[in-house]
Amino acid sequence: MKKHITIALAGNPNTGKTTIFNNLTGARQHVGNYPGVTVERKEGSVNYGPYQIKIIDLPGTYSLTAFSPDELLARQVIIEEKPDIIVNIIDAYNLERNLYLTVQLKELGIPMLLAFNMTDMIAARGIHIDYPLMEKLLGSKIIPTVGLKNVGSQEILKSVVELYEKINIPSERDLFYEVELEKEIVGLQRILQETAVGEVELAAAQDKANRWLAVKLLENDNDIINKFKTSDAWPDITRQVEKSQKKLQDLYREEPEMLIAHGRYAFIRGVLKEAVSYPGDDRVTLTEKIDNILLNRIVGLPIFLAMMWLLFQLTFTLGAPPMEWIEAGFGWLGERMADIMPDGLLQSLIVDGIIGGVGGVVVFLPNILLLFLGIALLEDTGYMSRAAFLMDKVMHRTGLHGKSFVPMLIGFGCSIPAIMASRTLENERDRLATMLVTPLISCGAKLPVYVLLIAAFFSDKVAGNILFSIYILGILMALLLAKVFRKWLLPGETEPFVMELPPYRFPTFKALLIHMWERAWLYLQKAGTIILAASILMWGLFTFPQHDANGVEFNDPVQQLEQSYAGRVGHLIEGVISPLGFDWKVGVALVSGVAAKEVIVSTMGTVYSIMDIDSLEEGEIQTVSSFSERAREQSGMTPLVAYVLMIFTLLYIPCMAALAVMRRETNGWKWPLFTVGYTLVLAWTVSFSIYQVGLLLGIGV
Ligand code: GDP
Ligand code: MG
Repeated sequence: MKKHITIALAGNPNTGKTTIFNNLTGARQHVGNYPGVTVERKEGSVNYGPYQIKIIDLPGTYSLTAFSPDELLARQVIIEEKPDIIVNIIDAYNLERNLYLTVQLKELGIPMLLAFNMTDMIAARGIHIDYPLMEKLLGSKIIPTVGLKNVGSQEILKSVVELYEKINIPSERDLFYEVELEKEIVGLQRILQETAVGEVELAAAQDKANRWLAVKLLENDNDIINKFKTSDAWPDITRQVEKSQKKLQDLYREEPEMLIAHGRYAFIRGVLKEAVSYPGDDRVTLTEKIDNILLNRIVGLPIFLAMMWLLFQLTFTLGAPPMEWIEAGFGWLGERMADIMPDGLLQSLIVDGIIGGVGGVVVFLPNILLLFLGIALLEDTGYMSRAAFLMDKVMHRTGLHGKSFVPMLIGFGCSIPAIMASRTLENERDRLATMLVTPLISCGAKLPVYVLLIAAFFSDKVAGNILFSIYILGILMALLLAKVFRKWLLPGETEPFVMELPPYRFPTFKALLIHMWERAWLYLQKAGTIILAASILMWGLFTFPQHDANGVEFNDPVQQLEQSYAGRVGHLIEGVISPLGFDWKVGVALVSGVAAKEVIVSTMGTVYSIMDIDSLEEGEIQTVSSFSERAREQSGMTPLVAYVLMIFTLLYIPCMAALAVMRRETNGWKWPLFTVGYTLVLAWTVSFSIYQVGLLLGIGV
């Protein structure tokens, strides 16, 4: 009398299941239909040693969800007929897709063998699979086969018997999901255990079965839900399932179903990364090698931060010498013009207004060039998409997409293309939230303000760190506000998204230069247009009127400044900004900065060069002082106030051009106006807090 073993062949369509089935059974097979459906059911048997092995050929499926009849059928056969062993036929040429079913079969907890079929094809392509390692990672024995040539069939039968007799059991290895998801699975598992609902349903060991049921319930599997609906414990179970699903939704803004699918693919990609090499495509393996370090769970984010830190250090230190040359050039030009031209309004307009204002902005071209060169380098090598990949997890916690990080990165350059780049987000709410927070990122126009103030008020040693801290604060604020908006203003789900990782490339010198120059040119154009116009306007507002209401001319330059139109505006808002440590001159600069953030610098340049020239006229000895020195000497600011001013500049109202683009992208003024409002409140609140805490602790006063 023979002993019986039942095995089921499972696998994706076209993996060679039927071929192997025929190899194993020969003529001893029976073809029928599954009851009630027109799916062909094939069964056969083969004698091996003391055993008669019954073989069921399951319908080919990619997954084991309850959504397609074939998948449900395959699952029902496994659950109801309880085969002793599943033989998973895998197309070794398409491992990633095939293993998706494998990990789901593994979750069923039924003893399983893996037949890696089509190994003739992978040999021909030179793909190498480390089978022992793969077995360890997947926790199942692997038999390489070539169905077409009947290679490996006897091995399969031998391994079936060994596994059945528990001679050869590989160590079990479970697939672990994301921590939060794991917590919910385990919690559900415990309830299932207590209520013993799944007891009789699965062939697998009970703890495995409960885990599988827990996953299925979180996936909203209708078949499973229908099965347990009538149970007494059902109300308790659904309550827990809904609670878990809601919690996961809140955490990740993603359907638990998608989270689970992502977890499976992440596991598979990890397995493939470790155990398969694709020679003949060196680039891929090199990319993977680099990714192993740069995308590492522990060091990945610190490496990213370190790179950004380095970028800002370089921006500052390498930018300093050429900046001085340009400054000296404009200084010389101003002096020459002052020599050539007769004293008067026209000289003041050209020297203070135009050369002072535009020159004050162009001075920062080296910093801009370096920053953009750095960004271009990171983008062109393919690292920026890694940064987005790394930030994906962080972004999820804010309720944004990993993809939202791309507009934010672009926002380092300029908010305008960043706002437009948010178009790549399909979900309306994701898009809006991203658009609303991108202005909080430090754009290129804010850099001159930082560089000016840092050079004037901080030592070279801390300069790079101060700059870095402001950039980080901008990112943190953007993430924080995104979370706030996504929770209260724009609640809803996030679209599922898988980050693509392009291969690393050596950027060409030409591409780098082009990318850098495109941005630098925009900066120069802006200096020649908006900033030139704003400088002239601001000069006018500072210079007029030249007499008081009674027609008496102002003699004192400080009085002249204070009584000018701009001065009056400054005084008007002084009450609001004085708790931040700002005086009326800063107020004027901030108002002018709405045109473009660089104008803050040019306005300060104008103010302080007017004061400089005027003090010269009073007969004082003028030392040739740099722009930064003038700012320090004449502003009366402390380092703390300078820092707060940088923070305020970072956070308050986006420039007019950005607001106009936002209006176009959202079809109305509602969101741009909202942005103006919230950024003002945010900038004031954060600045106030930092200033007051700084005063309290006596830092930088
Ligand atoms: P099923 O859909 O999983 O039942 O797959 P089939 O058994 O019908 O096989 C699909 C195709 O793959 C057929 O054309 C087979 O001849 C072919 N095939 C099966 N095994 C192998 C193999 O090991 N190597 C190659 N190159 N082709 C195979
Ligand atoms: Mg078939």
